[in-house]
Amino acid sequence: MRARAAAVAAVSTAAVLALLLLFGGRGARSADAPRIEFRGAARSVGGSCLVVTAGGVRFAVDCGSLGEEGGGELPDLPDSLAFVILTHAHTDHCGLLPRLFEAGFDGPVYCTRATARLAPIMLGMIRGISGASVARAAFDRTIAGFSEVPFGREAAHGGVRFRFRRAEHLLGAASVELWLPAGDDTVLLVVSGDIGGGNSLLVPPAEIPARADYVVMESTYGGVVRAEAGGSAPGREKFARAVGEALEAGGDVLIPAFTLGRTQEVMAVIDRYQRAGVIPPESEVYVDSPTAHKITAVYRTLREELSEEARNMYPGEPLRFPSLREVRSRTSMKVHDRRHVPAVFVTSSGDLSHANSPRHLMRMFEDRGNLLCIIGWQPPGSLGARLLAGESPVLVRYREGNENLEEWIDPELSVESSAAFSGHADAAGLLGWISAVRGTRKVFLVHGEERNAKALAKSIREALGTDVEIPERGAVRELVPVRGS
Ligand SMILES: [Zn+2]
Repeated sequence: MRARAAAVAAVSTAAVLALLLLFGGRGARSADAPRIEFRGAARSVGGSCLVVTAGGVRFAVDCGSLGEEGGGELPDLPDSLAFVILTHAHTDHCGLLPRLFEAGFDGPVYCTRATARLAPIMLGMIRGISGASVARAAFDRTIAGFSEVPFGREAAHGGVRFRFRRAEHLLGAASVELWLPAGDDTVLLVVSGDIGGGNSLLVPPAEIPARADYVVMESTYGGVVRAEAGGSAPGREKFARAVGEALEAGGDVLIPAFTLGRTQEVMAVIDRYQRAGVIPPESEVYVDSPTAHKITAVYRTLREELSEEARNMYPGEPLRFPSLREVRSRTSMKVHDRRHVPAVFVTSSGDLSHANSPRHLMRMFEDRGNLLCIIGWQPPGSLGARLLAGESPVLVRYREGNENLEEWIDPELSVESSAAFSGHADAAGLLGWISAVRGTRKVFLVHGEERNAKALAKSIREALGTDVEIPERGAVRELVPVRGS
């Protein structure tokens, strides 16, 4: 009898364990469990938006547009949003905020100090491109809505506690730790934001959250391993040598670069290698973008937010150096046409699709001594992608004065690319980041094309054994509390 009772006890223990596993292991499914809704950047990279409901409070993490120019529809967001947490100032994370305010939202937008200064510049740029699609009053309310929370300081709103950690991706870019009320429990959700490539000269390294119950993570380059990954200094030096050699041989150098972040990194790297003599110190460096100048001004006023390396490099005002010429687009072509010594032109529009990049190209393409340096991702079919692939002839659309022009050209100039300036971690960097977050019960991958998300999901499952999901747009998931969190 005794033996039989023991056997029954063993069976019922097993049944209870099985039930516990079935209903989520150590936690219990409950009406109090926080919910997350994937409203954007699901199985794609644009329009980041996550809606979180916890303890009766709803808020959004990011409200991004589809492209650099502010496109995309505002997701169908609940009227009851209490606040927004903004991870960083790129438009695919903040671009639709004015439309959210126009739709009636009137809460705070919590972000880091640098983001609060940079995001208004980007939103102003979008407004300039798209005209007055958002009423001035809504735009002004958006700008007034930014509420600064320094890195590392815990803040709270409606029972939700949160803290920004450095993500390195861009000045002010953050990952967010969120302590979500769940009845008597708390769920620790980490949203990675965009994770830097470990190669920034200006922005301090990432601070990876020590632990999480659940993680919503970007996967932009989840399937890409870069030769230069982790070797940023050699990548930068290779770039500098190519620039230096072209200038010494009498050529000009065109570096189309996104205005926010990339342009400032390029400026610092050129300055560094001019000091080292790798790039001729007498060569002038024209930065041709009004938006870039506004952004550079923010970098200059936030010296304390820069990396130790950058502060050592700039004991005074950052990003001021003798060869730098900050020109306005209005006058830049005159500058290009009149100067007599080889020079570097850093222009806006990283894929040469618009702004002044194609205008400069039209003055440079015929000379094989000139160099075009591609330093960012090129959308398929863009002029940058075609030039990089060596296509000839290529069609260039550009604006000269008030005229829209287009011309087929046979590019003779040299074209090189460098991954040294990528703002995103590659597959190894992303796996390294998530490996450092302890206790993660489940990872949701967003902000990546499906093949990149799938590749990262596979490597996370294999390396860590963690449950991974790639949610569809509109998917809603409960975050069941993990006991002891
Ligand atoms: Zn970004």
